Amino acid sequence: MTVACLLFTCPNTNRKMPTGVEMDVQGLRAHWKSTLKLDCPHCADVHEVCVRDVYLNGAVVISID
Ligand SMILES: [Zn+2]
Repeated sequence: MTVACLLFTCPNTNRKMPTGVEMDVQGLRAHWKSTLKLDCPHCADVHEVCVRDVYLNGAVVISID
């Protein structure tokens, strides 16, 4: 099974962080237009990001057997 581990890049510090969201392809389709609220560990701000944008900018696709 293939899972996309989503990384988010903080716009204030330009540093990547894991969103803690891991989705398979079906999950991505279902949540494609959802918004995530992320407590940023780098700038202590809360970022609202679209799953689609996070996926396009920073998904790491991993395979789990
Ligand atoms: Zn941030």
